[in-house]
Amino acid sequence: MTTPEKTPEAPATTTQDEPTTATAKPAAKPRVTKPRAAAKPRAAASKTTSAATTTKSASTAKAKAALKMPDEVLEVAVIGSGFSGLGMGIRLKKAGMTNFRVFEKAGDVGGTWRDNVYPGCACDVKSQLYSYSFEPSAEWSNAYANQGEILKYIRHCATKYGMYPFMRFNSKVLEATFNAEKGEWLLIIEGGELVRAKNVVAAPGPFADPKDPHIKGSENFKGAIIHTARWDNSVELKGKRVALIGTGATGVQVGPAIAPEVAHLTVFQRTANWIMPRPNPDLTEAEKQESRDNPLKMKLNRLSNYWLNEATAPFLILKYDAFKSVPSKISNDYRKRKVKDPELLKKLTPNYKFGCKRVLVSSDWYPTMQRENVTLEVTGIKQITPTGIEMVDGQHVDLDVIIFATGYEVRNTGAPFAVHGLNNASLDDKWKDGAEAFDGIATNNFPNMYFLVGPFTGPGHTSVIAYAEAQIDYVWQAIELRKQMNLKYITVKPSVEASFVKTMDQRSEHTVWKSGCASWYLSPNGRNNVLYPGFNAEYRMRIMRFNPANYVLVGANDQPVKPSLRDHLSTVKMALTA
Ligand SMILES: Cc1cc2nc3c(=O)[nH]c(=O)nc-3n(C[C@H](O)[C@H](O)[C@H](O)COP(=O)(O)OP(=O)(O)OC[C@H]3O[C@@H](n4cnc5c(N)ncnc54)[C@H](O)[C@@H]3O)c2cc1C
Repeated sequence: MTTPEKTPEAPATTTQDEPTTATAKPAAKPRVTKPRAAAKPRAAASKTTSAATTTKSASTAKAKAALKMPDEVLEVAVIGSGFSGLGMGIRLKKAGMTNFRVFEKAGDVGGTWRDNVYPGCACDVKSQLYSYSFEPSAEWSNAYANQGEILKYIRHCATKYGMYPFMRFNSKVLEATFNAEKGEWLLIIEGGELVRAKNVVAAPGPFADPKDPHIKGSENFKGAIIHTARWDNSVELKGKRVALIGTGATGVQVGPAIAPEVAHLTVFQRTANWIMPRPNPDLTEAEKQESRDNPLKMKLNRLSNYWLNEATAPFLILKYDAFKSVPSKISNDYRKRKVKDPELLKKLTPNYKFGCKRVLVSSDWYPTMQRENVTLEVTGIKQITPTGIEMVDGQHVDLDVIIFATGYEVRNTGAPFAVHGLNNASLDDKWKDGAEAFDGIATNNFPNMYFLVGPFTGPGHTSVIAYAEAQIDYVWQAIELRKQMNLKYITVKPSVEASFVKTMDQRSEHTVWKSGCASWYLSPNGRNNVLYPGFNAEYRMRIMRFNPANYVLVGANDQPVKPSLRDHLSTVKMALTA
């Protein structure tokens, strides 16, 4: 058994414990000038020759062979320390396991909430539900906490549950290769370290990398360009002419937060969104104290939030008009009440079915769009020039700062890192047209490997954590059973995986996500393999018990093993005591 390293200090909480404060600024319209000639595109990068590629792969193989093979074999290697990976680590430790590590490419826990520090960043599911069920918090300042508070909460959990000794920060997993003979994974960590582990739990997150909108000419802009997912606090916004490109979940948070301080904000909108109001009053000290004194009330609060969200599932998920009229009316009425100018109202009215793209929650987006110092542009962008943005109609907006609120490269195709399974099968190849996994967790040919918040298990109507926690319990059962039965490996049966995927595809046909709009829910071939097309409660029931009958179990002698009644009962017991 491995002894955990010395406990490192938890880093101090960084930015944004408070939302950005507002100071009204005089409205200054940006200068609009006439069209100019487009900048010449830069020369294409020279092609890599096949000889160079061969040399490179030979030297890579040589470099790999030179790495030192460790003697120690971890029971579990968890990849990622956001809500999911950290939750997995806590679960393993609670079960008494110490021979595991959490590999994190960054220098701290937190995932999404460590990386997204843009003004206004907050959750859009109530914090009582967007937090671990085993660690309710009475300290939230609002019903929907901001980024700083969520990050502080995650760090609090890491400290309280003694997770820092198990963390391996600045350890990006580059590659994982399964050794069927030994029944273990070999991980290559950036920097050249090798790690052996019997089980791998991949929790690299759905929104790790910012999406570059690839607008022509951006390299020529003389001002600053910031992506919301890599916010740069050194860029001054006060008194500047700023463009916000993108009006999705991030755009509607950052726009209202910065509008009061900039000289002028030009918002470039491609598609108007369905918006629901999100009242978010401060919680008083008396209310917080009441929660501290009455943990049962907090639990009931969470439960009522959970079931309220579940009740909204048919309205957000199904495509049928019967489920669309009520929420569409609420959203339409809200917009009409808030937006007085008919031209602006038209621009802000969505032209697709309610729920086809993510429904946004914001009580300050419409007021922001009506500020004197804000302009909403719906004309497309032609290019970025050295001094601003040129639109397709030839108009030019002079700018100091451009903000890309263009979201993330959602990983619905390809592997999150290089993974080679049985018979050197490549996960990248398997998932090239769309990621698939049985119950969203395990995929055939990649034994003893489990995904958290994997394919088909994003939330359409509730908190990610409701999915992740159920998956964590399931994965823990799989890991325990493998150990108890002394198996070399466990891999899901191809027929079982195919049947689950078929069910997901069939169900997705009934969802509003496939009603004709473009969204990040769909992979390039038009399939939904991101969101769960159903109730969370049903998903939880589905994966409550790890059923070994769905898996091929391979014993120490390389022969398939049939699970006995005792093995089945063991998983029932684990499911009931999770
Ligand atoms: C701005 C924003 C707001 C959101 N609001 C909500 C909300 O209100 N409700 C909701 O349900 N969801 C929300 N989400 C979705 C959110 O991503 C999830 O709720 C949650 O953070 C997912 O946690 P995770 O641990 O699975 O992934 P992440 O938080 O993304 O963590 C993954 C971790 O893995 C690490 N990692 C990745 N690859 C490697 C590698 N190769 N090696 C080592 N480490 C690696 C990353 O550095 C990261 O720390 C929001 C997302 C964003 C971006």
